[in-house]
Amino acid sequence: MSTLAKKDSPLNYDIKCRDTIIPIELDKGDSLQFALKSGQKVIIKVVDTWAKIISTELKDITVPESGARLVYRFGCKFNIDGKDVEVEREVPTARSFYEPLDFCGVHIWLDGVKAAFKRAGGFLLEKDFSKAKIRCEPQKDVRILIQDSSLDICPEPLHPWCPLPEEGMRIEDCYRGEDCWMGSYDGICAHGGLDINHPARTPLWAPLDIDDHAYFNSVAMGDNNNRWRGTRRWENGSLWVLQAHHVPGLTIEEHVPIKKGQQFAWGAGVWSGVVDHSHFVFRIIEEYGEFIVDPWILFAKMYRDRELFPDKFI
Ligand SMILES: [Zn+2]
Repeated sequence: MSTLAKKDSPLNYDIKCRDTIIPIELDKGDSLQFALKSGQKVIIKVVDTWAKIISTELKDITVPESGARLVYRFGCKFNIDGKDVEVEREVPTARSFYEPLDFCGVHIWLDGVKAAFKRAGGFLLEKDFSKAKIRCEPQKDVRILIQDSSLDICPEPLHPWCPLPEEGMRIEDCYRGEDCWMGSYDGICAHGGLDINHPARTPLWAPLDIDDHAYFNSVAMGDNNNRWRGTRRWENGSLWVLQAHHVPGLTIEEHVPIKKGQQFAWGAGVWSGVVDHSHFVFRIIEEYGEFIVDPWILFAKMYRDRELFPDKFI
Protein backbone atom coordinates (compact mmCIF):
# COMPACT_ATOMS: atom_id res chain seq x y z
CA MET A 1 0.00 0.00 0.00
CA SER A 2 2.29 2.75 -1.18
CA THR A 3 -0.48 5.21 -1.89
CA LEU A 4 -4.10 5.39 -1.04
CA ALA A 5 -5.55 7.39 -3.89
CA LYS A 6 -9.29 7.28 -3.97
CA LYS A 7 -10.54 5.58 -7.11
CA ASP A 8 -13.91 5.72 -8.79
CA SER A 9 -16.53 3.42 -7.42
CA PRO A 10 -17.38 0.60 -6.95
CA LEU A 11 -14.13 0.04 -5.00
CA ASN A 12 -12.62 3.28 -3.75
CA TYR A 13 -9.73 1.72 -1.83
CA ASP A 14 -7.89 -1.57 -2.19
CA ILE A 15 -5.55 -2.42 0.66
CA LYS A 16 -3.76 -5.46 2.03
CA CYS A 17 -3.31 -6.32 5.67
CA ARG A 18 0.18 -6.07 7.11
CA ASP A 19 1.75 -6.62 10.52
CA THR A 20 0.64 -3.27 12.00
CA ILE A 21 -2.81 -1.80 12.27
CA ILE A 22 -4.00 0.38 9.35
CA PRO A 23 -5.72 3.73 9.97
CA ILE A 24 -8.02 5.09 7.28
CA GLU A 25 -10.76 7.68 6.92
CA LEU A 26 -13.75 7.10 4.66
CA ASP A 27 -16.79 9.03 3.52
CA LYS A 28 -20.31 7.69 3.45
CA GLY A 29 -20.70 5.66 0.28
CA ASP A 30 -17.01 4.76 0.11
CA SER A 31 -16.00 1.15 -0.13
CA LEU A 32 -12.79 -0.54 0.77
CA GLN A 33 -11.49 -3.92 -0.32
CA PHE A 34 -9.31 -5.39 2.42
CA ALA A 35 -7.15 -8.43 1.71
CA LEU A 36 -6.63 -10.72 4.70
CA LYS A 37 -3.41 -12.63 5.37
CA SER A 38 -5.02 -15.69 3.77
CA GLY A 39 -5.59 -13.74 0.55
CA GLN A 40 -9.34 -13.68 1.10
CA LYS A 41 -10.83 -10.27 0.32
CA VAL A 42 -13.48 -8.52 2.36
CA ILE A 43 -15.47 -5.55 1.09
CA ILE A 44 -16.36 -2.89 3.64
CA LYS A 45 -18.73 -0.05 2.76
CA VAL A 46 -19.65 2.91 4.91
CA VAL A 47 -23.43 3.32 4.85
CA ASP A 48 -24.12 5.90 7.57
CA THR A 49 -22.67 7.62 10.64
CA TRP A 50 -24.26 9.40 13.58
CA ALA A 51 -23.63 11.00 16.96
CA LYS A 52 -26.07 11.76 19.76
CA ILE A 53 -26.00 13.15 23.28
CA ILE A 54 -27.17 10.70 25.93
CA SER A 55 -27.01 12.93 29.00
CA THR A 56 -25.54 16.27 29.96
CA GLU A 57 -25.18 18.67 32.86
CA LEU A 58 -24.62 21.64 30.52
CA LYS A 59 -27.15 24.44 30.78
CA ASP A 60 -26.45 25.47 27.20
CA ILE A 61 -25.25 22.75 24.84
CA THR A 62 -23.14 25.23 22.90
CA VAL A 63 -21.19 26.61 25.88
CA PRO A 64 -18.42 24.66 27.67
CA GLU A 65 -18.76 24.66 31.47
CA SER A 66 -16.01 23.73 33.89
CA GLY A 67 -16.41 20.13 35.07
CA ALA A 68 -19.83 19.60 33.43
CA ARG A 69 -20.43 16.05 32.27
CA LEU A 70 -21.77 15.03 28.91
CA VAL A 71 -22.13 11.46 27.68
CA TYR A 72 -22.51 10.84 23.97
CA ARG A 73 -22.63 7.97 21.54
CA PHE A 74 -21.38 7.81 18.01
CA GLY A 75 -21.80 5.12 15.47
CA CYS A 76 -21.32 3.82 11.99
CA LYS A 77 -23.33 1.45 9.86
CA PHE A 78 -21.08 -0.64 7.67
CA ASN A 79 -21.96 -3.13 5.00
CA ILE A 80 -19.39 -5.91 5.17
CA ASP A 81 -19.49 -8.52 2.42
CA GLY A 82 -23.15 -7.74 1.87
CA LYS A 83 -24.23 -7.74 5.51
CA ASP A 84 -25.20 -4.59 7.41
CA VAL A 85 -23.37 -4.18 10.72
CA GLU A 86 -23.85 -1.28 13.13
CA VAL A 87 -21.14 -0.28 15.58
CA GLU A 88 -21.85 2.22 18.33
CA ARG A 89 -19.40 3.68 20.86
CA GLU A 90 -20.08 5.52 24.12
CA VAL A 91 -17.83 8.24 25.58
CA PRO A 92 -16.81 9.06 28.32
CA THR A 93 -17.98 6.06 30.35
CA ALA A 94 -16.57 2.61 31.19
CA ARG A 95 -17.58 1.67 27.65
CA SER A 96 -14.88 4.00 26.29
CA PHE A 97 -12.46 1.09 26.79
CA TYR A 98 -13.83 -1.03 24.01
CA GLU A 99 -13.06 -4.03 21.87
CA PRO A 100 -12.97 -3.77 18.07
CA LEU A 101 -15.71 -5.18 15.89
CA ASP A 102 -14.76 -8.73 14.90
CA PHE A 103 -16.56 -9.63 11.67
CA CYS A 104 -15.72 -11.64 8.52
CA GLY A 105 -12.11 -12.09 9.71
CA VAL A 106 -11.58 -8.35 10.17
CA HIS A 107 -11.10 -6.25 13.29
CA ILE A 108 -12.43 -2.70 12.95
CA TRP A 109 -11.88 -0.04 15.61
CA LEU A 110 -14.41 2.78 15.19
CA ASP A 111 -12.25 5.73 16.25
CA GLY A 112 -14.35 8.77 15.43
CA VAL A 113 -17.07 10.27 13.26
CA LYS A 114 -17.22 13.76 11.84
CA ALA A 115 -20.94 14.00 12.69
CA ALA A 116 -20.07 14.45 16.39
CA PHE A 117 -18.28 17.74 15.69
CA LYS A 118 -19.92 21.12 15.65
CA ARG A 119 -18.45 22.05 12.26
CA ALA A 120 -20.37 19.09 10.81
CA GLY A 121 -23.64 19.80 12.65
CA GLY A 122 -22.75 18.01 15.90
CA PHE A 123 -21.76 19.40 19.29
CA LEU A 124 -18.03 18.80 19.92
CA LEU A 125 -15.30 21.43 19.83
CA GLU A 126 -11.59 20.64 19.75
CA LYS A 127 -9.88 20.93 23.16
CA ASP A 128 -6.24 20.28 22.33
CA PHE A 129 -5.71 21.90 18.95
CA SER A 130 -4.57 25.42 19.79
CA LYS A 131 -1.71 24.42 22.11
CA ALA A 132 -0.88 20.78 21.39
CA LYS A 133 -2.03 20.70 17.71
CA ILE A 134 -4.13 17.60 18.27
CA ARG A 135 -7.26 17.52 16.16
CA CYS A 136 -9.79 14.81 17.01
CA GLU A 137 -12.21 15.52 14.17
CA PRO A 138 -11.82 13.17 11.21
CA GLN A 139 -11.29 14.83 7.81
CA LYS A 140 -13.83 12.41 6.31
CA ASP A 141 -17.08 11.01 7.72
CA VAL A 142 -15.47 8.22 9.72
CA ARG A 143 -12.02 7.23 10.99
CA ILE A 144 -11.38 3.54 11.55
CA LEU A 145 -8.41 1.29 12.15
CA ILE A 146 -8.42 -2.10 10.54
CA GLN A 147 -6.54 -5.37 10.95
CA ASP A 148 -6.83 -9.04 10.05
CA SER A 149 -8.47 -10.54 13.15
CA SER A 150 -5.78 -13.24 13.34
CA LEU A 151 -3.10 -10.56 13.78
CA ASP A 152 -2.47 -8.14 16.63
CA ILE A 153 -2.01 -4.39 16.24
CA CYS A 154 1.76 -4.84 15.87
CA PRO A 155 4.07 -7.85 15.61
CA GLU A 156 5.60 -7.70 19.10
CA PRO A 157 4.44 -7.42 22.71
CA LEU A 158 4.20 -3.95 24.23
CA HIS A 159 5.64 -3.05 27.61
CA PRO A 160 3.37 -0.94 29.85
CA TRP A 161 3.86 2.78 29.14
CA CYS A 162 3.23 3.53 32.83
CA PRO A 163 2.10 1.37 35.77
CA LEU A 164 -1.17 -0.05 34.43
CA PRO A 165 -4.18 0.50 36.71
CA GLU A 166 -4.46 -2.92 38.35
CA GLU A 167 -8.15 -3.61 37.76
CA GLY A 168 -8.10 -2.28 34.20
CA MET A 169 -8.71 1.19 32.88
CA ARG A 170 -11.42 3.10 34.72
CA ILE A 171 -13.00 6.26 33.37
CA GLU A 172 -12.94 7.68 36.92
CA ASP A 173 -9.14 7.69 36.68
CA CYS A 174 -9.10 9.80 33.50
CA TYR A 175 -8.59 13.29 34.98
CA ARG A 176 -12.03 14.25 36.40
CA GLY A 177 -13.67 11.18 34.87
CA GLU A 178 -14.00 12.47 31.31
CA ASP A 179 -10.60 12.60 29.62
CA CYS A 180 -10.43 9.42 27.62
CA TRP A 181 -9.85 9.85 23.87
CA MET A 182 -12.45 12.36 22.63
CA GLY A 183 -13.98 12.47 26.09
CA SER A 184 -16.08 15.52 26.69
CA TYR A 185 -13.92 17.95 28.68
CA ASP A 186 -16.11 20.74 30.10
CA GLY A 187 -19.05 19.05 28.40
CA ILE A 188 -18.30 19.60 24.71
CA CYS A 189 -14.52 19.83 24.19
CA ALA A 190 -13.09 16.67 22.60
CA HIS A 191 -10.05 15.58 24.60
CA GLY A 192 -7.10 14.80 22.32
CA GLY A 193 -5.53 11.91 24.20
CA LEU A 194 -5.98 9.50 27.09
CA ASP A 195 -5.35 10.80 30.61
CA ILE A 196 -4.27 8.39 33.32
CA ASN A 197 -4.24 9.74 36.85
CA HIS A 198 -1.15 8.87 38.86
CA PRO A 199 1.10 10.67 41.34
CA ALA A 200 3.63 13.22 40.13
CA ARG A 201 6.91 11.56 39.12
CA THR A 202 5.38 8.20 38.25
CA PRO A 203 7.85 6.36 35.97
CA LEU A 204 7.16 6.20 32.24
CA TRP A 205 8.66 3.31 30.24
CA ALA A 206 9.05 2.80 26.51
CA PRO A 207 6.24 0.50 25.28
CA LEU A 208 8.49 -0.54 22.36
CA ASP A 209 11.91 0.36 20.98
CA ILE A 210 11.96 4.10 20.27
CA ASP A 211 14.23 5.29 17.43
CA ASP A 212 14.25 8.98 18.36
CA HIS A 213 12.74 11.15 21.07
CA ALA A 214 12.70 14.68 22.46
CA TYR A 215 10.48 17.32 24.00
CA PHE A 216 8.56 19.15 21.29
CA ASN A 217 7.20 21.68 23.82
CA SER A 218 8.79 22.63 27.08
CA VAL A 219 8.26 25.12 29.86
CA ALA A 220 11.95 26.02 29.44
CA MET A 221 11.23 27.03 25.80
CA GLY A 222 8.26 29.14 26.92
CA ASP A 223 5.45 26.65 26.31
CA ASN A 224 2.69 25.92 28.80
CA ASN A 225 3.74 22.29 29.27
CA ASN A 226 6.50 19.71 28.88
CA ARG A 227 5.41 17.51 26.00
CA TRP A 228 7.50 14.49 24.99
CA ARG A 229 7.44 12.71 21.65
CA GLY A 230 9.03 9.43 20.63
CA THR A 231 8.92 7.73 17.23
CA ARG A 232 9.23 4.22 15.90
CA ARG A 233 9.38 3.33 12.21
CA TRP A 234 8.12 -0.18 11.42
CA GLU A 235 9.67 -2.21 8.60
CA ASN A 236 6.46 -1.78 6.58
CA GLY A 237 6.99 2.01 6.61
CA SER A 238 4.32 2.94 9.15
CA LEU A 239 5.55 5.53 11.65
CA TRP A 240 4.18 5.35 15.18
CA VAL A 241 4.43 8.55 17.20
CA LEU A 242 3.93 8.35 20.94
CA GLN A 243 3.50 11.41 23.12
CA ALA A 244 3.37 11.98 26.88
CA HIS A 245 2.50 15.40 28.29
CA HIS A 246 2.97 16.94 31.77
CA VAL A 247 6.40 15.27 32.00
CA PRO A 248 8.58 16.64 34.87
CA GLY A 249 11.82 15.25 33.49
CA LEU A 250 13.51 12.84 31.09
CA THR A 251 15.78 10.05 32.34
CA ILE A 252 17.27 9.39 28.88
CA GLU A 253 18.91 12.17 26.95
CA GLU A 254 16.98 13.50 23.98
CA HIS A 255 17.67 11.78 20.62
CA VAL A 256 19.27 8.72 22.26
CA PRO A 257 17.35 5.57 21.17
CA ILE A 258 15.30 3.94 23.95
CA LYS A 259 14.94 0.19 24.41
CA LYS A 260 11.54 -1.31 25.10
CA GLY A 261 10.89 -1.34 28.85
CA GLN A 262 13.49 1.32 29.69
CA GLN A 263 12.32 4.19 31.83
CA PHE A 264 12.68 7.34 29.73
CA ALA A 265 10.92 9.90 31.92
CA TRP A 266 8.96 10.76 35.00
CA GLY A 267 5.27 11.32 34.32
CA ALA A 268 2.66 13.76 35.64
CA GLY A 269 3.24 16.86 37.68
CA VAL A 270 3.89 19.68 35.18
CA TRP A 271 0.75 21.76 34.61
CA SER A 272 -1.38 18.67 35.19
CA GLY A 273 -4.40 20.58 36.48
CA VAL A 274 -6.57 19.58 39.43
CA VAL A 275 -5.51 15.90 39.37
CA ASP A 276 -1.95 14.77 38.63
CA HIS A 277 -2.00 12.71 35.47
CA SER A 278 -0.13 11.88 32.28
CA HIS A 279 -1.72 12.67 28.93
CA PHE A 280 -0.90 10.01 26.33
CA VAL A 281 -1.20 10.49 22.57
CA PHE A 282 -0.98 7.94 19.74
CA ARG A 283 -0.39 9.18 16.19
CA ILE A 284 0.17 7.01 13.11
CA ILE A 285 1.83 8.50 10.05
CA GLU A 286 1.43 6.76 6.70
CA GLU A 287 2.47 7.85 3.22
CA TYR A 288 -1.15 8.77 2.56
CA GLY A 289 -1.81 10.74 5.74
CA GLU A 290 -1.49 11.29 9.43
CA PHE A 291 -3.98 9.98 11.96
CA ILE A 292 -4.28 10.75 15.66
CA VAL A 293 -6.14 7.87 17.25
CA ASP A 294 -7.21 6.43 20.57
CA PRO A 295 -4.22 5.53 22.81
CA TRP A 296 -6.50 2.95 24.46
CA ILE A 297 -5.73 0.74 21.44
CA LEU A 298 -2.11 0.60 22.70
CA PHE A 299 -3.07 0.21 26.36
CA ALA A 300 -5.50 -2.63 25.56
CA LYS A 301 -2.56 -4.47 24.00
CA MET A 302 -0.38 -3.72 27.03
CA TYR A 303 -3.01 -5.39 29.21
CA ARG A 304 -3.22 -8.38 26.83
CA ASP A 305 0.56 -8.74 26.79
CA ARG A 306 0.80 -8.52 30.57
CA GLU A 307 -1.58 -11.50 30.76
CA LEU A 308 0.40 -13.41 28.15
CA PHE A 309 3.85 -12.62 29.57
CA PRO A 310 3.34 -12.05 33.31
CA ASP A 311 7.02 -12.50 34.18
CA LYS A 312 8.33 -10.32 31.39
CA PHE A 313 6.34 -7.16 31.95
CA ILE A 314 5.39 -5.27 35.08
ZN1 LIG B 1 -5.27 15.33 28.93
